[in-house]
Amino acid sequence: MKMVFLGPPGAGKGTLAAMASKSMGLPHISTGDLFRAAIKNETELGKKVKGILAEGKLVPDDLTIALIRERLGADDARDGWILDGFPRTTGQAEALQSIAPVELVVNFDVPDETILFRLTGRSICKDCGKIYHATTMPPAREGVCDICGGPLYVRSDDREEAIRTRLNAYREQTEPLIAWYGKLGKLVTIDGSGSPDAVYIRFAEASRV
Ligand code: ADP
Repeated sequence: MKMVFLGPPGAGKGTLAAMASKSMGLPHISTGDLFRAAIKNETELGKKVKGILAEGKLVPDDLTIALIRERLGADDARDGWILDGFPRTTGQAEALQSIAPVELVVNFDVPDETILFRLTGRSICKDCGKIYHATTMPPAREGVCDICGGPLYVRSDDREEAIRTRLNAYREQTEPLIAWYGKLGKLVTIDGSGSPDAVYIRFAEASRV
């Protein structure tokens, strides 16, 4: 199954993609995670995109498409994948169709106030990537991952100004993809509010997995 998770920042794409990846045995491919890894490892790509991510702007299409083309060429991506955070522009969506046509696009619909609430309380494990929320999903020990004991951090783009920039980029450049994929007949929209388990049930029904 070749699947795309679409939705605004904070819609829960990353959380749900991790759950679906585990239960379906498909690789979870997040362009945001790939960029953050490049930044952490101080690669050439990482140096180019560090400031862009911190501000909450989109990385240019040529860099993003080259990155995903390489990742989708790996052995584990032959039979299927869950793309989280790609495509984000119609240029990227067109490129993806020519690399490997998408079979299902799951659009996570979440109200603006939920997005802000989720993003402003978010922290992430540096070692295993598990996502926490200060109010709805706090770790047992503050600042420490329940799963692996790694340190938790707040993403540099989870500050109010960068969140606003990311939401604007979503509205202007990514939201038109809902209609784009709708025309292709590949789109299902699910309610992304509530707990991860509640959203997962809706996802499983909508995608019949
Ligand atoms: P979120 O969906 O919560 O904003 P991501 O981890 O998906 O977070 O993305 C973080 C940042 O990585 C984006 O704000 C952007 O700078 C960059 N990025 C990720 N995916 C793309 C993409 N497909 N095109 C351009 N930039 C991207």
